[in-house]
Amino acid sequence: MDEQLLLVALLGACGVACVALLVRIRRERGEHEDETRESPIAMSSEGVKLCPHCATENLWTDTRCVRCGRHLPDAPPRAW
Ligand SMILES: [Zn+2]
Repeated sequence: MDEQLLLVALLGACGVACVALLVRIRRERGEHEDETRESPIAMSSEGVKLCPHCATENLWTDTRCVRCGRHLPDAPPRAW
């Protein structure tokens, strides 16, 4: 009886360990994909305003061009 209980406990522990290992592998793989994936914010023109006068890229929060100082048109609101 005691041996049977021990066996069940051992099998249960193995199952838990296997699940934990799978979760960890999956998480590490996901983190690796995150590192290799290019950041959409840094790589795209989303989030910048092009100056219609000198074509300088300004932050979307800027209201005036950093190069020529002219007023930038308001970007349409974006649903993130
Ligand atoms: Zn400008």
